[in-house]
Amino acid sequence: FIYLDYNATAPVRPEAVAATTASLAAVGNASSVHTAGRDAASTVDQARERVAALLGCLPNELIFTSGATEANNLAIRSAATHGRSLVVSAVEHPAVSEAAAAVANSVAGKVYTIGVHRDGTLRLDELEEALAASPVLVSVMAANNETGVLNNLDLVVRLAHEAGALVHSDATQLVGRLPIDLSKLRLDLLSLSGHKFGAPQGVGALFARRGTVPAIRPLAYGGGHERGRRPGTLNVPGIAGLGAAAQAARRDLEQEAARIKVLRDRFETEVMTAVPGTRRNGHPDQRLPGVSSLTFDGLPADALLAAMPGLAASEGSACSSGALEPSHVLLAMGLSRDEADCTIRFSLGHATTADDIDRAVRCVTYATHLVRAALHPNTT
Ligand code: PLP
Repeated sequence: FIYLDYNATAPVRPEAVAATTASLAAVGNASSVHTAGRDAASTVDQARERVAALLGCLPNELIFTSGATEANNLAIRSAATHGRSLVVSAVEHPAVSEAAAAVANSVAGKVYTIGVHRDGTLRLDELEEALAASPVLVSVMAANNETGVLNNLDLVVRLAHEAGALVHSDATQLVGRLPIDLSKLRLDLLSLSGHKFGAPQGVGALFARRGTVPAIRPLAYGGGHERGRRPGTLNVPGIAGLGAAAQAARRDLEQEAARIKVLRDRFETEVMTAVPGTRRNGHPDQRLPGVSSLTFDGLPADALLAAMPGLAASEGSACSSGALEPSHVLLAMGLSRDEADCTIRFSLGHATTADDIDRAVRCVTYATHLVRAALHPNTT
């Protein structure tokens, strides 16, 4: 089995398995004052320091959540102000775009959506136009989940701050895969999800820069956990795993990114040579090292994936209400519906090996022959 779907979720790193298992074997609510509780609280403190070290922020600027969906909602809901607009890009994950739409609706604001170029990079002209409306928040993802395309967050922050807007970035796909330093990159809010870089599923964090975000307004009513910003008993085993994954990712980051990029580039070159009519989506360089979005001319992604049951990857369409909808990301980049339907996202990560790539190239090539022969018998 070849796993090339790291953007959906990554295998849990051994360090995270060990930390989560040790925490599961212990007892203690991090809010309790007895020894067991204090031990749980110190596990959480250690994890908070490790995540802060990965991001270059202060530990107390982090709020642990159930993942990036919750972090995105918390950020957008907290920043929204009555009557003021929000700006999001057209290629955001629904956890940002849907949250922005719902929040703007409830505070009678407007959402401006900024388009992207054919290579998936942000239309800065549209950002500047939207900033003229004095939005309260700009939310632009760090790296796109379908194409891996990276945004120039330094520039977005500069332009947005000049216009008096806060900046949030959904950095779910970037954290743990490429370096980020929040002591230099002056984002106000950032979301992450642990399972994308080797922590267990169901744990993440919101970074809220001290002193710049007016107030984090909890999404639920409850106790005073996370300094009143996220009520509910902390997921200590998950948080322990998140901390361990952050520490391991930070240690291996540069070496891992370079190794993965070599594998990804080889995968693309070999597939594109073996399968005529294959196109790569997204900016050639300004993208995550482990992501490859490929459009196979005339070959539907669902048929291709069915023809390679030993390989896990994702199609460029998502199942919504029972029907396959083409990816809004690929459509925003100007691909046709047919092209989006013929697109597969392969995503590599920390445990991907050269042997995986050799086998993946063979699998993909074989699947394209099978599907082409079935669909276009006269052309093979
Ligand atoms: N944002 C992006 C860019 C993602 O890729 C994902 C997960 O696919 C999320 C947010 C949501 O993460 P989670 O489901 O862990 O909350």
